[in-house]
Amino acid sequence: MKNTSIRIEPSCADDYDPNSLPVTEALRRIDSEITPISGIERVAVRSALGRVLAEDVHSHIDVPAHTNSAMDGYAVAGVDLAESGSRELRVIGTAWAGRPFTGVVRPGECVRIMTGAKMPSGADTVVMQERAERVGDVIRIGSGNRPGQNVRQAGEDIAKGGIVLAAGKKLLPAELGLLASLGFVEITVKRRLRVAFFSTGDELRSAGEALAEGDIYDSNRYTLHAMLTRLGVDVTDMGVVRDRREDLERALKEAAQAADAVITSGGVSVGEADFIKETLASLGRVNFWKIAMKPGRPLAFGRIANAVFFGLPGNPVSVMVTFYEFVQPALRRLMGQTDTRSPRIMVPCVSRLKKTPGRMEFQRGILETESNGRLVVRSTGEQGSGILSSMSKANCFIVLPMEAGAVEPETLVAVELFEGLI
Ligand code: AMP
Ligand code: MG
Repeated sequence: MKNTSIRIEPSCADDYDPNSLPVTEALRRIDSEITPISGIERVAVRSALGRVLAEDVHSHIDVPAHTNSAMDGYAVAGVDLAESGSRELRVIGTAWAGRPFTGVVRPGECVRIMTGAKMPSGADTVVMQERAERVGDVIRIGSGNRPGQNVRQAGEDIAKGGIVLAAGKKLLPAELGLLASLGFVEITVKRRLRVAFFSTGDELRSAGEALAEGDIYDSNRYTLHAMLTRLGVDVTDMGVVRDRREDLERALKEAAQAADAVITSGGVSVGEADFIKETLASLGRVNFWKIAMKPGRPLAFGRIANAVFFGLPGNPVSVMVTFYEFVQPALRRLMGQTDTRSPRIMVPCVSRLKKTPGRMEFQRGILETESNGRLVVRSTGEQGSGILSSMSKANCFIVLPMEAGAVEPETLVAVELFEGLI
């Protein structure tokens, strides 16, 4: 990996820095370093939620398996439909879902049929019951019906032999249902990713401990633990590591041995002692980047032994932003997922947003529907990288491109939603 560290140190005062790395370039460099894990395992379909398919899934049956009715009504031969006026047909039996009618429908005849029931031979069309008048064994149907209507063809959802789901697909509720509809009991998925993380900083205390003067509670381990858990990886929380070379070295070695990816927070910005950089450099290939973004400017990325390493900034909001923008897509790729994008939508912003050109910003926003039904986004207010409550108030990031200046109300902006429907 090329060493891209630079001499000019990051500071919050300047906005434009020709030496900083654009977000897209950082993403590209990270992506080029990631090779998906090869380990696989068999799991029950029920337990496969959130897992990544390790191989293509082919269907060994047609879905639906047989041509069947999409409605409750009467199965008829399309040629028996009246072009004008009405037509009378004799009802010769009933077809239920799971209990087919075994006879044959001949001209002038029909079969009472329920949704999902196999189409009887001789019939290719279903007239919905609301469009048929029944007196005893005879129905009268008017015009306006089309041959072939209200019938689901065998294999119309999935044809036998076809690829139903491709390797790299993340399994969500629809996929589990789909696999079940094909009769799969077990499926081959990528093994779970192992991720170890710890916080660095002499000022950090864990919740439950007493705070001495100048101490703060460690919140990053909680957000990291939660974000990783939602991603469905096996997490190892290694606690707080003091700003001491031996401690850091020991923790990094241990983490890299046990995990596919190691994440730390703190210690990558200017104020931090150089030994952190030296220690990281002595253990692996780690680059210290200054990224043209806010928040989350300093970021370390590389490899320690066989593990991918991310050194996130210490500020709590920076941790979350850099996790979602860099770590999450990288971990998804590492776990074999092919689609790692998070969707962005364009909506009008009703707040005025401060912004200077030269860096990409991820401001915290609230996406909401106005009383007139219009979808808009507004700012959560103060955007400091230490203000974690802004992440809690927000339901989206307002993503402002590098070249953008201040945003005037009613400007269209890109937003990235925190929660997806599925
Ligand atoms: P650093 O990147 O280590 O210089 O940290 C930047 C800021 O984030 C400092 O104000 C730290 O006290 C704070 N910080 C670092 N790590 C944590 C953490 N785990 N939880 C909360 N705040 C932190
Ligand atoms: Mg620190």
